[in-house]
Amino acid sequence: MIVVGAGIAGLACARELIDAGIPARVVERGRVVGGRLASTRFDGRYADIGAAYLTADDPAFQGLLDSWRVAGLAHPWTDTFAVSAPEGDDTTTGPMRWSAPGGLRSLAEDLARELDVTLEQEVRALPEADAVVLAMPAPQAMRVTPVGVPQEWSPVLAAVLTFGERSWADFHGMFVNGHPVLATVCDDGDRRGDRAPVLVAHSTGDFARPRLGDPLAAAGDLESAVRKLLDLPPAESVRVHRWTYAQPLAGDAPFHRQGNVYVCGDAFGKPRVQTAWLSGRAVARDIVLRRRSG
Ligand SMILES: Cc1cc2nc3c(=O)[nH]c(=O)nc-3n(C[C@H](O)[C@H](O)[C@H](O)COP(=O)(O)OP(=O)(O)OC[C@H]3O[C@@H](n4cnc5c(N)ncnc54)[C@H](O)[C@@H]3O)c2cc1C
Repeated sequence: MIVVGAGIAGLACARELIDAGIPARVVERGRVVGGRLASTRFDGRYADIGAAYLTADDPAFQGLLDSWRVAGLAHPWTDTFAVSAPEGDDTTTGPMRWSAPGGLRSLAEDLARELDVTLEQEVRALPEADAVVLAMPAPQAMRVTPVGVPQEWSPVLAAVLTFGERSWADFHGMFVNGHPVLATVCDDGDRRGDRAPVLVAHSTGDFARPRLGDPLAAAGDLESAVRKLLDLPPAESVRVHRWTYAQPLAGDAPFHRQGNVYVCGDAFGKPRVQTAWLSGRAVARDIVLRRRSG
């Protein structure tokens, strides 16, 4: 079996196949595993630039989070976020949000342990295999082979802002409603647990869309929006990362299958890490079932 994409969906799929005794090879175009479960190193420290946190309402995914907690790889972060809205500021309490002291990508690395993963290899045509799993957004899968999966995606620009010191009141993370530039701001030092003076802001889709061609040019607007929101001094550095396919509209099937080609990922349910993991696992289970019955 060939799994294309070493995001959490592809890694979950490959692990489930291997556990069922079916050999699987993962091919990833990036230099590292994780996809949008992404942590990038700035000045010797990782910051989470993709998914901001993990939540679980599926017992199996919760079990995985618990096992990562025992291993010291993940920890419950907060169930409370600040809310900034035109009508006033507030807080909101929701599900427990989990983060990773080593950056969220460390969780993907853990899933990838002992898997056969080839990095820095972009798949441009459908490989020969009993089954091919395209574990990625459908617009990316379409570049490999025509797959009839209509999906709608929004982009995000993620800005990592580093400061000389922490000069804001603790807020964990903040949903920014009705803002032309910002959708969320997270305290990366609080999230990771090292208290580093680092904030990560995610833009709205509308702000990102016209700026995808030159994301670095958006650094000034993102920085000034964060500074104004939190009344901060100038940042020491601002880095911008572009996510062209950041957030899909929620779909309802667990995955898509066309002959021996599967498409899976976070577009198959509510767009979040848990969905991607469940979708990849569901594909593997389908492959196992078909093998046993055929
Ligand atoms: C800014 C942002 C904030 C988010 N916040 C949250 C959050 O707070 N909580 C949450 O649960 N989720 C969040 N998400 C969503 C979460 O990151 C995703 O649901 C999840 O990581 C998707 O995993 P995936 O495996 O489906 O896809 P991806 O992570 O996109 O993996 C696809 C992989 O396929 C690879 N690939 C693509 N094409 C090819 C090719 N041709 N050949 C080889 N490899 C290829 C890519 O390089 C990538 O590694 C956020 C996402 C973004 C971008």
